[in-house]
Amino acid sequence: MSQTKILDGRKVAKELEAEIGQVVENLTKQGITPGLTVILVGDNPASEIYVSYKEKACKRVGINSNLIKLPAEINEEELLGEVERLNQDDSVDGILVQLPLPEHIDEEKVINTIRADKDVDGFHPINIGKLMINGSGLHSCTPRGIMEILHRYEIEVEGKNAVIIGRSNIVGKPMAQMLLQENATVTICHSRTKDLKEHTLKADILVAAVGRAEFVTADMVKKGAVIIDVGINRTENGLLGDVEFKGVKEKAAAITPVPGGVGPMTIATLLKNTLKACQERRG
Ligand code: NDP
Repeated sequence: MSQTKILDGRKVAKELEAEIGQVVENLTKQGITPGLTVILVGDNPASEIYVSYKEKACKRVGINSNLIKLPAEINEEELLGEVERLNQDDSVDGILVQLPLPEHIDEEKVINTIRADKDVDGFHPINIGKLMINGSGLHSCTPRGIMEILHRYEIEVEGKNAVIIGRSNIVGKPMAQMLLQENATVTICHSRTKDLKEHTLKADILVAAVGRAEFVTADMVKKGAVIIDVGINRTENGLLGDVEFKGVKEKAAAITPVPGGVGPMTIATLLKNTLKACQERRG
């Protein structure tokens, strides 16, 4: 029987939420309640679900959450005006504009308008720059949540070969930077990588952020590797990760399941970022 450790993101997220809840309670007693405002443009059903998860999570830990729903037809200027208003509002610690936005709106412009110290998604260039330079600032929630899993399961990162499949701005690139910050030797693979397997077979820590169901198979994985599956793929066989779980689990030392691995950590980290933004801005 395999001794593979299942990295339980639900459990870690619960622990993290309990810790956040405690700090929020103390702050609230001092008259400061952290606040997150989410802007949702249009009626994308997936976005509505994600936003409702975020609102529920805020409620669980005592963070004030406020949802601003705007029609899909809103023009860019009006949306930027709304962001500016929140930038000035002292009771708002975190601003999150749920992506994707309708095509006529420039996402980059919207992200760049959010005050960097309220950018709880960690997408603003200032936060990305800070991460590159010294690891400070507000960090993208999914990779930061993955680091939290690695820490809490006491998985050593220093000196390890970490291979990331995927180079998106929200997962792959910040993931690489965070692992580098903790002294891993990092390789980033993508759709133009030649001989992908040659790289993945060297990975002590393999992060799959591809967006293709069961893309990583057992033959691509080194025995004893730690496997982090970021993928969320809705298929006719249900929700699947980017890793072929059953086969890969037999070779891995540790693996995150889908669901119940990285997903819950993304939301817990959003709460942590909101708390951090509040503490840093309002002392
Ligand atoms: P993107 O589509 O932005 O990026 C996918 C990356 O995979 C790209 O860099 C792409 O390369 C690379 N890729 C695609 N095909 C191949 C291939 N055949 N070989 C090697 N690399 C390949 O996705 P995201 O980073 O936003 O998300 C990745 C997955 O994670 C998705 O399933 C998404 O749903 C999930 N996700 C889960 C979250 C969670 O909370 N659990 C949060 C965010 C995302 P190239 O750049 O060359 O195109």
